[in-house]
Amino acid sequence: MSSFDIIDPAFGSFVLHNAPLKRLATGFDWAEGPVWFGDHSALLFSDIPNNRIVRWSEEGLTTFRAQANYSNGHTRDAQGRLISCEHGTRSVTRTEWDGSVTTLASSYQGKRLNSPNDVIVAKDGAIWFTDPHYGIMTDYEGFKGAEELPCSVYRLDPDGTLQAMITDMACPNGLCFSPDESRLYVADTGRQFTQDPQHIMVFDMVQNRPKKGRIFHKVNAGWSDGMRMDSDGNLWSSAADGVHCIAPDGHLMGKVLVPEVVSNICFGGRAKNRLFITATTSLYSVILNRQGLQRP
Ligand code: MG
Repeated sequence: MSSFDIIDPAFGSFVLHNAPLKRLATGFDWAEGPVWFGDHSALLFSDIPNNRIVRWSEEGLTTFRAQANYSNGHTRDAQGRLISCEHGTRSVTRTEWDGSVTTLASSYQGKRLNSPNDVIVAKDGAIWFTDPHYGIMTDYEGFKGAEELPCSVYRLDPDGTLQAMITDMACPNGLCFSPDESRLYVADTGRQFTQDPQHIMVFDMVQNRPKKGRIFHKVNAGWSDGMRMDSDGNLWSSAADGVHCIAPDGHLMGKVLVPEVVSNICFGGRAKNRLFITATTSLYSVILNRQGLQRP
């Protein structure tokens, strides 16, 4: 069975037919939030219900962090430090070079954040993250909590200033910038995962603020949760049947078919052309003929 569904013929040149999808590891309860560390040839990702961050390399799996505060999405800042969204502490944290963990944001205008979900870092060093309510709907260890703020997209500037940037989406989830950062894409997964809206919004960036939000694309299998960008501006999104590649004009180019519901993705590998895929109980990867837009 092919690993790919080619819808736009151009997608045929994005994939390598001698490099099929591989399952690298399994046995997780819900894997999400992959982030590549090229300097360690390793991937970190969350196994949320088991409250751990897992480290995968070609040598195998280890636990990077137990008692991980139910971390979800991760990225790295311009200095290579790990930035994490934590449901358990309702915060965004940074892991310093000495291993200590600094809380970067946990409240806004005196109210607690909901449960930061996914995070990216802009070229200017600002940390952008989404704050839907999913993590406080789940009573993992008694921290099911009240929603004190609208589900929003935030920008955290390098000087520590936190500002809500988008407050009128139902439940913002995955997000990414276009290569030139003139556009911001944000998935809306709805108040309940089973309800609309379940689409990707796109915003024009005007003076470092997202404007003119409009529907960019609605995946045709399940919903978009996490997304990443390739260096040509194509959006790669998670979906129920795999990873969908969406052109800058919003049309579906093709799919990497995955036998489990995909939560999130990231590019990695020495050539930035290996797509890592967290999908329900397993971690997969596939080598593509595309390069991810991955910093640092
Ligand atoms: Mg997510």
